[in-house]
Amino acid sequence: MKINKNYQKLEDSYLFSTIAKKVSEYSKANPDKNIIRLGIGDVTLPLSKTVVKAMQDAVAEMGQKETFRGYGPEQGYDFLREAVQKYYQSRNTKVEIEEIFISDGAKSDVGNILDLFDKDNTVLVPDPVYPVYVDTNTMAGRKIIYAEANESNGFLPMPDKSQKVDIIYICSPNNPTGAVYNKEQLKEWVDYALENEAVILYDAAYECFITDKNLPRSIYEIEGAKKCAIEFCSLSKTAGFTGTRCGYTIVPDDLVVDGIHLRKMWLRRQTTKFNGVPYIVQRGAQAVFSEEAQEEIKQAIDYYRENAKVIADTMDAKGIWYTGGKHSPYIWLKCPNGMDSWEFFDKLLNEIQVVGTPGAGFGKNGKNFFRLTSFGDKAKTKEAMERFSKLF
Ligand code: PLP
Repeated sequence: MKINKNYQKLEDSYLFSTIAKKVSEYSKANPDKNIIRLGIGDVTLPLSKTVVKAMQDAVAEMGQKETFRGYGPEQGYDFLREAVQKYYQSRNTKVEIEEIFISDGAKSDVGNILDLFDKDNTVLVPDPVYPVYVDTNTMAGRKIIYAEANESNGFLPMPDKSQKVDIIYICSPNNPTGAVYNKEQLKEWVDYALENEAVILYDAAYECFITDKNLPRSIYEIEGAKKCAIEFCSLSKTAGFTGTRCGYTIVPDDLVVDGIHLRKMWLRRQTTKFNGVPYIVQRGAQAVFSEEAQEEIKQAIDYYRENAKVIADTMDAKGIWYTGGKHSPYIWLKCPNGMDSWEFFDKLLNEIQVVGTPGAGFGKNGKNFFRLTSFGDKAKTKEAMERFSKLF
Protein backbone atom coordinates (compact mmCIF):
# COMPACT_ATOMS: atom_id res chain seq x y z
CA MET A 1 0.00 0.00 0.00
CA LYS A 2 1.41 3.34 -1.04
CA ILE A 3 -0.04 6.75 -0.24
CA ASN A 4 -0.08 9.68 -2.65
CA LYS A 5 3.31 11.18 -1.79
CA ASN A 6 2.47 14.34 -3.71
CA TYR A 7 0.61 15.53 -0.60
CA GLN A 8 4.03 15.75 1.07
CA LYS A 9 5.02 18.35 -1.52
CA LEU A 10 2.17 20.70 -0.56
CA GLU A 11 3.36 23.77 1.23
CA ASP A 12 1.59 24.17 4.54
CA SER A 13 -0.68 27.15 4.34
CA TYR A 14 0.01 29.17 7.44
CA LEU A 15 -1.53 32.33 6.02
CA PHE A 16 -4.93 32.48 7.68
CA SER A 17 -3.90 30.58 10.80
CA THR A 18 -0.95 32.95 11.33
CA ILE A 19 -3.22 35.95 10.83
CA ALA A 20 -5.76 34.55 13.32
CA LYS A 21 -2.99 33.84 15.86
CA LYS A 22 -1.48 37.32 15.57
CA VAL A 23 -4.89 39.00 15.86
CA SER A 24 -5.91 36.89 18.84
CA GLU A 25 -2.61 37.60 20.68
CA TYR A 26 -2.95 41.30 19.97
CA SER A 27 -6.54 41.49 21.19
CA LYS A 28 -5.68 39.57 24.36
CA ALA A 29 -2.89 42.03 25.12
CA ASN A 30 -5.04 45.04 24.11
CA PRO A 31 -8.64 44.22 25.07
CA ASP A 32 -9.76 47.87 24.80
CA LYS A 33 -8.71 48.22 21.12
CA ASN A 34 -11.29 48.02 18.36
CA ILE A 35 -9.94 45.79 15.59
CA ILE A 36 -11.34 46.20 12.05
CA ARG A 37 -11.04 43.21 9.72
CA LEU A 38 -10.54 43.96 6.04
CA GLY A 39 -8.88 40.66 5.32
CA ILE A 40 -11.83 38.38 4.81
CA GLY A 41 -12.72 36.96 1.42
CA ASP A 42 -16.17 35.95 2.63
CA VAL A 43 -19.34 37.97 2.10
CA THR A 44 -21.18 39.47 5.07
CA LEU A 45 -24.60 40.53 3.71
CA PRO A 46 -27.49 38.01 3.93
CA LEU A 47 -29.22 36.18 1.09
CA SER A 48 -31.80 38.20 -0.82
CA LYS A 49 -35.46 37.93 0.25
CA THR A 50 -36.52 36.40 -3.06
CA VAL A 51 -33.87 33.68 -2.79
CA VAL A 52 -34.87 32.85 0.81
CA LYS A 53 -38.56 32.62 -0.19
CA ALA A 54 -37.72 30.26 -3.09
CA MET A 55 -35.77 27.98 -0.76
CA GLN A 56 -38.58 28.03 1.85
CA ASP A 57 -41.06 27.01 -0.84
CA ALA A 58 -38.72 24.21 -1.90
CA VAL A 59 -38.44 22.99 1.71
CA ALA A 60 -42.26 22.85 1.87
CA GLU A 61 -42.31 20.85 -1.39
CA MET A 62 -39.82 18.37 0.05
CA GLY A 63 -42.15 17.85 3.03
CA GLN A 64 -45.11 16.68 0.90
CA LYS A 65 -45.34 13.23 -0.67
CA GLU A 66 -46.73 14.67 -3.93
CA THR A 67 -43.89 17.13 -4.45
CA PHE A 68 -40.99 15.40 -2.68
CA ARG A 69 -37.87 14.86 -4.81
CA GLY A 70 -35.04 12.37 -4.30
CA TYR A 71 -31.89 12.19 -6.42
CA GLY A 72 -31.86 14.84 -9.11
CA PRO A 73 -29.86 14.97 -12.35
CA GLU A 74 -26.14 15.05 -11.45
CA GLN A 75 -25.52 17.94 -13.84
CA GLY A 76 -28.34 20.04 -12.34
CA TYR A 77 -32.06 20.57 -12.89
CA ASP A 78 -33.02 22.04 -16.24
CA PHE A 79 -34.89 24.91 -14.54
CA LEU A 80 -31.55 26.16 -13.17
CA ARG A 81 -29.51 25.37 -16.28
CA GLU A 82 -32.05 27.36 -18.32
CA ALA A 83 -31.77 30.27 -15.87
CA VAL A 84 -27.96 30.23 -16.25
CA GLN A 85 -28.32 30.05 -20.04
CA LYS A 86 -30.57 33.15 -19.97
CA TYR A 87 -28.08 34.95 -17.73
CA TYR A 88 -25.40 34.43 -20.39
CA GLN A 89 -27.87 35.36 -23.13
CA SER A 90 -28.58 38.68 -21.36
CA ARG A 91 -24.89 39.48 -21.98
CA ASN A 92 -25.09 38.26 -25.60
CA THR A 93 -23.13 35.09 -24.88
CA LYS A 94 -24.57 31.86 -26.21
CA VAL A 95 -24.18 28.67 -24.20
CA GLU A 96 -26.17 25.47 -24.69
CA ILE A 97 -28.06 23.80 -21.82
CA GLU A 98 -25.96 20.60 -22.16
CA GLU A 99 -22.79 22.68 -21.75
CA ILE A 100 -23.91 23.96 -18.30
CA PHE A 101 -23.08 21.83 -15.24
CA ILE A 102 -24.46 22.91 -11.86
CA SER A 103 -21.97 22.47 -9.03
CA ASP A 104 -21.66 23.02 -5.30
CA GLY A 105 -19.26 25.90 -6.00
CA ALA A 106 -16.28 26.86 -8.10
CA LYS A 107 -13.68 25.50 -5.68
CA SER A 108 -14.78 21.87 -6.07
CA ASP A 109 -15.01 22.02 -9.84
CA VAL A 110 -11.71 23.85 -10.28
CA GLY A 111 -10.12 20.93 -8.44
CA ASN A 112 -12.28 18.12 -9.88
CA ILE A 113 -11.81 19.14 -13.53
CA LEU A 114 -8.22 17.88 -13.27
CA ASP A 115 -9.61 14.32 -13.43
CA LEU A 116 -9.89 14.90 -17.19
CA PHE A 117 -6.22 15.64 -17.76
CA ASP A 118 -3.11 13.51 -17.88
CA LYS A 119 -0.61 13.77 -15.05
CA ASP A 120 2.17 14.68 -17.49
CA ASN A 121 0.58 17.92 -18.65
CA THR A 122 2.45 21.11 -17.86
CA VAL A 123 0.38 23.69 -16.02
CA LEU A 124 0.72 27.48 -16.17
CA VAL A 125 -0.46 29.31 -13.07
CA PRO A 126 -0.16 33.05 -12.45
CA ASP A 127 1.84 34.17 -9.43
CA PRO A 128 0.21 35.51 -7.26
CA VAL A 129 -3.18 33.80 -7.41
CA TYR A 130 -5.93 31.88 -5.59
CA PRO A 131 -3.86 29.04 -4.01
CA VAL A 132 -6.26 26.22 -4.99
CA TYR A 133 -4.85 26.01 -8.55
CA VAL A 134 -1.34 25.26 -7.31
CA ASP A 135 -2.36 22.88 -4.54
CA THR A 136 -4.72 20.75 -6.64
CA ASN A 137 -2.07 20.26 -9.33
CA THR A 138 0.60 19.55 -6.73
CA MET A 139 -1.65 16.82 -5.27
CA ALA A 140 -1.84 15.26 -8.75
CA GLY A 141 1.94 15.52 -9.23
CA ARG A 142 1.83 17.87 -12.21
CA LYS A 143 4.62 20.18 -13.25
CA ILE A 144 3.72 23.81 -12.55
CA ILE A 145 5.20 26.82 -14.33
CA TYR A 146 4.42 30.31 -13.11
CA ALA A 147 3.30 33.28 -15.17
CA GLU A 148 4.93 36.23 -13.47
CA ALA A 149 2.39 38.87 -12.45
CA ASN A 150 3.95 42.05 -11.14
CA GLU A 151 3.83 45.82 -11.03
CA SER A 152 5.29 46.19 -14.52
CA ASN A 153 2.52 44.17 -16.21
CA GLY A 154 -0.19 45.47 -13.87
CA PHE A 155 -0.53 41.92 -12.46
CA LEU A 156 -1.88 40.77 -15.84
CA PRO A 157 0.74 38.43 -17.31
CA MET A 158 0.54 37.69 -21.04
CA PRO A 159 1.48 34.46 -22.87
CA ASP A 160 5.14 33.69 -23.40
CA LYS A 161 5.11 32.34 -26.96
CA SER A 162 8.47 30.61 -26.52
CA GLN A 163 6.97 28.38 -23.82
CA LYS A 164 4.74 25.36 -24.39
CA VAL A 165 2.15 24.61 -21.71
CA ASP A 166 -0.96 22.40 -21.70
CA ILE A 167 -3.25 23.77 -19.00
CA ILE A 168 -3.59 27.50 -18.38
CA TYR A 169 -5.30 29.10 -15.38
CA ILE A 170 -6.81 32.54 -15.77
CA CYS A 171 -8.71 34.26 -12.98
CA SER A 172 -10.33 37.56 -13.98
CA PRO A 173 -11.25 39.63 -11.99
CA ASN A 174 -8.36 38.19 -10.10
CA ASN A 175 -8.10 37.05 -6.52
CA PRO A 176 -6.02 38.53 -4.86
CA THR A 177 -5.00 41.35 -7.23
CA GLY A 178 -8.40 42.55 -8.48
CA ALA A 179 -6.81 42.99 -11.94
CA VAL A 180 -9.12 42.39 -14.93
CA TYR A 181 -8.13 41.35 -18.46
CA ASN A 182 -9.60 43.27 -21.39
CA LYS A 183 -10.86 41.55 -24.54
CA GLU A 184 -7.65 42.09 -26.53
CA GLN A 185 -5.56 40.53 -23.77
CA LEU A 186 -7.87 37.54 -23.42
CA LYS A 187 -7.81 37.12 -27.21
CA GLU A 188 -4.02 36.70 -27.00
CA TRP A 189 -4.49 33.95 -24.43
CA VAL A 190 -7.15 32.23 -26.53
CA ASP A 191 -4.95 32.42 -29.64
CA TYR A 192 -2.00 31.03 -27.68
CA ALA A 193 -4.15 28.15 -26.33
CA LEU A 194 -5.47 27.31 -29.79
CA GLU A 195 -1.98 27.37 -31.29
CA ASN A 196 -0.54 25.17 -28.54
CA GLU A 197 -3.57 22.90 -28.18
CA ALA A 198 -3.78 23.96 -24.55
CA VAL A 199 -6.91 24.20 -22.41
CA ILE A 200 -7.72 27.39 -20.50
CA LEU A 201 -9.39 26.99 -17.11
CA TYR A 202 -11.13 30.34 -16.69
CA ASP A 203 -12.26 31.30 -13.20
CA ALA A 204 -15.00 33.94 -13.42
CA ALA A 205 -16.03 33.81 -9.74
CA TYR A 206 -15.95 37.62 -9.51
CA GLU A 207 -17.51 38.51 -12.90
CA CYS A 208 -20.45 40.30 -11.26
CA PHE A 209 -18.13 43.05 -10.00
CA ILE A 210 -17.33 44.20 -13.56
CA THR A 211 -19.22 47.38 -14.42
CA ASP A 212 -17.42 48.45 -17.62
CA LYS A 213 -19.41 46.99 -20.52
CA ASN A 214 -16.23 46.74 -22.59
CA LEU A 215 -14.56 44.37 -20.15
CA PRO A 216 -15.30 40.66 -20.67
CA ARG A 217 -17.36 38.89 -17.98
CA SER A 218 -17.00 35.53 -19.68
CA ILE A 219 -14.17 34.07 -21.75
CA TYR A 220 -16.78 33.07 -24.33
CA GLU A 221 -17.04 36.73 -25.32
CA ILE A 222 -13.74 36.02 -27.08
CA GLU A 223 -13.79 34.43 -30.51
CA GLY A 224 -12.38 30.91 -30.51
CA ALA A 225 -12.73 30.43 -26.71
CA LYS A 226 -15.32 27.69 -27.08
CA LYS A 227 -12.66 25.55 -28.70
CA CYS A 228 -10.18 25.89 -25.85
CA ALA A 229 -11.73 27.08 -22.57
CA ILE A 230 -13.72 25.79 -19.63
CA GLU A 231 -15.37 28.46 -17.46
CA PHE A 232 -16.07 28.23 -13.72
CA CYS A 233 -18.51 30.50 -12.03
CA SER A 234 -20.06 30.77 -8.62
CA LEU A 235 -22.99 32.33 -6.81
CA SER A 236 -20.78 32.77 -3.73
CA LYS A 237 -19.79 36.37 -4.31
CA THR A 238 -22.60 37.18 -6.77
CA ALA A 239 -25.46 36.31 -4.44
CA GLY A 240 -23.96 35.60 -1.03
CA PHE A 241 -23.93 31.81 -1.50
CA THR A 242 -20.61 31.13 0.26
CA GLY A 243 -22.46 29.11 2.91
CA THR A 244 -25.35 27.96 0.70
CA ARG A 245 -23.05 26.47 -2.00
CA CYS A 246 -23.90 26.66 -5.68
CA GLY A 247 -21.96 27.41 -8.84
CA TYR A 248 -21.76 26.30 -12.45
CA THR A 249 -19.16 25.16 -14.91
CA ILE A 250 -19.39 25.54 -18.68
CA VAL A 251 -17.73 22.88 -20.80
CA PRO A 252 -18.39 23.78 -24.46
CA ASP A 253 -19.28 21.07 -26.91
CA ASP A 254 -16.64 22.45 -29.31
CA LEU A 255 -13.87 21.66 -26.87
CA VAL A 256 -12.36 18.56 -28.40
CA VAL A 257 -8.91 17.11 -27.60
CA ASP A 258 -7.58 14.13 -29.60
CA GLY A 259 -11.07 13.65 -31.02
CA ILE A 260 -12.60 13.43 -27.53
CA HIS A 261 -15.30 15.85 -26.33
CA LEU A 262 -14.35 17.15 -22.90
CA ARG A 263 -18.04 17.88 -22.24
CA LYS A 264 -18.83 14.18 -22.55
CA MET A 265 -15.89 13.28 -20.32
CA TRP A 266 -17.01 15.78 -17.69
CA LEU A 267 -20.58 14.45 -17.83
CA ARG A 268 -19.21 10.93 -17.30
CA ARG A 269 -17.04 12.14 -14.43
CA GLN A 270 -19.89 14.01 -12.73
CA THR A 271 -22.45 11.22 -13.11
CA THR A 272 -19.93 8.83 -11.57
CA LYS A 273 -18.53 10.90 -8.70
CA PHE A 274 -21.18 13.54 -7.92
CA ASN A 275 -24.83 13.28 -6.96
CA GLY A 276 -25.88 16.83 -7.59
CA VAL A 277 -26.60 20.01 -5.64
CA PRO A 278 -29.58 19.89 -3.22
CA TYR A 279 -32.95 20.64 -4.84
CA ILE A 280 -33.63 23.36 -2.23
CA VAL A 281 -30.36 25.13 -3.07
CA GLN A 282 -30.98 24.86 -6.82
CA ARG A 283 -34.40 26.52 -6.36
CA GLY A 284 -32.66 29.31 -4.44
CA ALA A 285 -30.06 29.58 -7.22
CA GLN A 286 -32.79 29.72 -9.88
CA ALA A 287 -34.36 32.62 -7.96
CA VAL A 288 -31.01 34.47 -8.05
CA PHE A 289 -31.54 34.97 -11.79
CA SER A 290 -35.09 36.36 -11.40
CA GLU A 291 -35.66 40.07 -11.99
CA GLU A 292 -36.60 40.74 -8.33
CA ALA A 293 -33.54 38.98 -6.94
CA GLN A 294 -31.21 40.59 -9.50
CA GLU A 295 -32.38 43.97 -8.19
CA GLU A 296 -31.82 42.93 -4.54
CA ILE A 297 -28.44 41.40 -5.33
CA LYS A 298 -27.35 44.51 -7.18
CA GLN A 299 -27.84 46.48 -3.97
CA ALA A 300 -25.56 44.10 -2.08
CA ILE A 301 -22.90 44.22 -4.79
CA ASP A 302 -23.14 48.02 -4.89
CA TYR A 303 -22.63 48.08 -1.12
CA TYR A 304 -19.36 46.14 -1.54
CA ARG A 305 -18.39 48.31 -4.52
CA GLU A 306 -18.79 51.45 -2.43
CA ASN A 307 -16.53 49.95 0.22
CA ALA A 308 -13.98 49.17 -2.50
CA LYS A 309 -14.17 52.77 -3.67
CA VAL A 310 -13.57 54.10 -0.15
CA ILE A 311 -10.40 51.99 0.03
CA ALA A 312 -9.26 52.83 -3.52
CA ASP A 313 -9.87 56.56 -2.95
CA THR A 314 -7.69 56.42 0.16
CA MET A 315 -4.86 54.79 -1.82
CA ASP A 316 -5.24 57.44 -4.55
CA ALA A 317 -5.09 60.23 -1.99
CA LYS A 318 -1.92 58.73 -0.48
CA GLY A 319 -0.28 58.02 -3.84
CA ILE A 320 -0.05 54.31 -3.04
CA TRP A 321 0.17 52.02 -6.11
CA TYR A 322 -2.58 49.40 -6.33
CA THR A 323 -4.62 47.22 -8.67
CA GLY A 324 -8.29 46.28 -8.33
CA GLY A 325 -10.92 48.21 -6.42
CA LYS A 326 -12.92 49.07 -9.53
CA HIS A 327 -14.20 45.84 -11.04
CA SER A 328 -13.35 43.71 -8.07
CA PRO A 329 -13.97 43.45 -4.31
CA TYR A 330 -10.18 43.33 -3.76
CA ILE A 331 -7.62 46.11 -3.51
CA TRP A 332 -4.06 44.93 -3.97
CA LEU A 333 -1.68 47.60 -2.79
CA LYS A 334 2.05 48.00 -2.79
CA CYS A 335 3.28 48.17 0.79
CA PRO A 336 4.60 51.69 1.42
CA ASN A 337 8.27 52.39 2.13
CA GLY A 338 9.48 49.07 0.70
CA MET A 339 7.98 47.09 3.59
CA ASP A 340 7.36 43.41 3.11
CA SER A 341 3.80 42.20 3.44
CA TRP A 342 4.13 40.68 6.94
CA GLU A 343 5.91 43.79 8.25
CA PHE A 344 3.07 45.86 6.84
CA PHE A 345 0.51 43.50 8.39
CA ASP A 346 2.11 43.97 11.83
CA LYS A 347 2.26 47.74 11.39
CA LEU A 348 -1.44 48.02 10.52
CA LEU A 349 -2.46 45.69 13.35
CA ASN A 350 -0.29 47.32 16.01
CA GLU A 351 -0.71 50.96 15.05
CA ILE A 352 -4.24 51.28 13.66
CA GLN A 353 -5.81 47.90 14.51
CA VAL A 354 -6.70 47.12 10.89
CA VAL A 355 -6.33 43.55 9.62
CA GLY A 356 -5.62 42.73 5.98
CA THR A 357 -4.01 39.82 4.14
CA PRO A 358 -0.26 39.73 3.41
CA GLY A 359 0.38 39.21 -0.30
CA ALA A 360 3.13 36.67 0.46
CA GLY A 361 0.34 34.15 1.09
CA PHE A 362 -0.62 34.17 -2.61
CA GLY A 363 2.78 33.56 -4.19
CA LYS A 364 6.32 34.91 -4.20
CA ASN A 365 5.34 37.97 -6.26
CA GLY A 366 3.00 39.04 -3.46
CA LYS A 367 5.92 39.56 -1.07
CA ASN A 368 5.63 43.37 -1.05
CA PHE A 369 1.89 43.61 -1.61
CA PHE A 370 -1.18 43.52 0.57
CA ARG A 371 -4.83 42.60 -0.01
CA LEU A 372 -7.71 44.57 1.46
CA THR A 373 -11.27 43.44 0.82
CA SER A 374 -14.54 45.28 0.50
CA PHE A 375 -16.75 42.57 1.99
CA GLY A 376 -16.85 44.22 5.42
CA ASP A 377 -19.21 46.65 7.08
CA LYS A 378 -19.45 50.10 5.46
CA ALA A 379 -18.98 52.18 8.63
CA LYS A 380 -16.03 50.03 9.72
CA THR A 381 -14.39 50.25 6.28
CA LYS A 382 -14.65 54.05 6.43
CA GLU A 383 -13.25 54.11 9.95
CA ALA A 384 -10.37 51.82 8.89
CA MET A 385 -9.49 54.14 6.01
CA GLU A 386 -9.61 57.22 8.27
CA ARG A 387 -7.11 55.51 10.56
CA PHE A 388 -5.01 54.53 7.52
CA SER A 389 -4.98 58.14 6.25
CA LYS A 390 -3.69 59.40 9.57
CA LEU A 391 -0.96 56.78 9.67
CA PHE A 392 0.49 57.53 6.21
N1 PLP B 1 -12.33 31.03 -7.32
C1 PLP B 1 -11.77 32.10 -6.74
C2 PLP B 1 -10.83 32.92 -7.53
C3 PLP B 1 -12.06 32.43 -5.41
O1 PLP B 1 -11.48 33.50 -4.85
C4 PLP B 1 -12.96 31.63 -4.68
C5 PLP B 1 -13.29 31.91 -3.28
O2 PLP B 1 -12.80 32.75 -2.61
C6 PLP B 1 -13.50 30.52 -5.32
C7 PLP B 1 -13.18 30.25 -6.64
C8 PLP B 1 -14.40 29.59 -4.57
O3 PLP B 1 -15.72 29.78 -4.89
P1 PLP B 1 -16.86 28.86 -4.31
O4 PLP B 1 -17.33 29.48 -3.03
O5 PLP B 1 -17.91 28.88 -5.39
O6 PLP B 1 -16.33 27.48 -4.10
